[in-house]
Amino acid sequence: MIFLNNKLVPKKKALISVFDHGFLYGDGIYETLRIYKGIIFKLDEHIERLYRSAEMIGLAIPKKREEIRNAVYKTIASNRQKEAVVRITISRGTGPLGLDPSLCPKPTFVIISNKFRNCPAEYYSKGVKVSIVNTRRNYGPALDPRIKSLNFLNNVLAKIEAKNRASYEALMMNYQGYLAEGTISNVFFINNKDILCTPAIKVGILEGITRGMILDIAKGLGLKSREGCFRRKDIYNAREVFITNTSMEVMPVTRIDKVRIAGKAGRLTSMIHDKYKEKVSDYIEAFNN
Ligand code: PMP
Repeated sequence: MIFLNNKLVPKKKALISVFDHGFLYGDGIYETLRIYKGIIFKLDEHIERLYRSAEMIGLAIPKKREEIRNAVYKTIASNRQKEAVVRITISRGTGPLGLDPSLCPKPTFVIISNKFRNCPAEYYSKGVKVSIVNTRRNYGPALDPRIKSLNFLNNVLAKIEAKNRASYEALMMNYQGYLAEGTISNVFFINNKDILCTPAIKVGILEGITRGMILDIAKGLGLKSREGCFRRKDIYNAREVFITNTSMEVMPVTRIDKVRIAGKAGRLTSMIHDKYKEKVSDYIEAFNN
């Protein structure tokens, strides 16, 4: 079942208008959430980011936080899913042709819930290959990457490049040539002084919820971290590299373009991922108590 506007409808009946401005102009926002054991992980953080994105595009979300929370739980329950990935999409809504948001009186609200399918275990043990692509991350003052918007062509173009190079993910630089992020992930690396490095928000990236957790985990492990402006050579020379997002958690990277980082997942990467999984378990347990 799909949650469409105010109710659950069967997948085949979950249809929206060809005049929806999400379809016509990519005008809207979304969030992707992960469900573990029937519990939505970091739901409040995702809802907050959804409201932040909405505010940045001048969209009034037609629901209260509590209503969104209930709608997500209703959707996963209707699909009897305990391990799932949920996408909340809110578009500007249906209106005549034209960019003016006031043409659309009512945003379209959709929740899709899919059974979670993990990547092959080998990806986590041996790591994946990524490519630094030619497509640059959107210039912040043109379209701020902090907005999790439906306008995803920048990322799609980067993804096409990565696919053409048989890579799992594309890494994009920003307009100044500083390392930014993946198409659906944030990027981290361990430098030769064992410092955990990741692009700063000001480089022009999405402030990943997983990214925030990783920085906290590093602190807890006594690992130094640095959010900054990094060049291609910095990541090429890294000891360990990994990418993060809500659904894949921590994915080791062992090759970037022609540069081999390692033969398998790095020691610190594995330590951080283990700690992440521990945090997920703690969260589920706290929720149940
Ligand atoms: N960057 C981009 C462009 C993304 O689409 C995502 C996925 N939401 C991320 C980073 C990672 O964010 P999160 O950890 O909140 O899933």
